[in-house]
Amino acid sequence: MADFDDLLAANRDFASDFSLGGFDGVAHAGVAIVTCMDSRIDPLGMLGLKPGDAKIFRNPGGRVTEAALEALVLGVHLLRVERVLVVPHTRCAVASNTEAELRARVSESAGQDASWQRFHVVDDQARALAEDVQKVRSHPLIPDTVKVGGFLYDVDSGLLEQKI
Ligand SMILES: [Zn+2]
Repeated sequence: MADFDDLLAANRDFASDFSLGGFDGVAHAGVAIVTCMDSRIDPLGMLGLKPGDAKIFRNPGGRVTEAALEALVLGVHLLRVERVLVVPHTRCAVASNTEAELRARVSESAGQDASWQRFHVVDDQARALAEDVQKVRSHPLIPDTVKVGGFLYDVDSGLLEQKI
């Protein structure tokens, strides 16, 4: 039970001046972000947003998966999302390794065979981004009034560049 004590102590500090109580949970800036789980990415900070402003969906690579689409449909219809940013990034592990390489690295770390574990790697990041943006734009429950953009985040400069 002590494994999380440091984090729980930090949480008590956080809650001591908590200001989001009773908050409605909609995206106050009308923004949804699909991005990578990478710890170098601060999805709110990079857009000048703050907690409460945006819906954020993260996974390895920042891919528009079925679960991401589910989140975006909820965001658009129930949580006031009007703009969607799909944001993969430079030097992403799933875009710079093959599935075989990731399996080998995980196998080595785990000390056991990991060849059965699926890793959704990206062969061509630009093409994957175009496909992902198209998945959002063409979704029957996401209307054309919702603006959808594809961007690349540079983890070394902090800059976001719109690609599509
Ligand atoms: Zn990544």
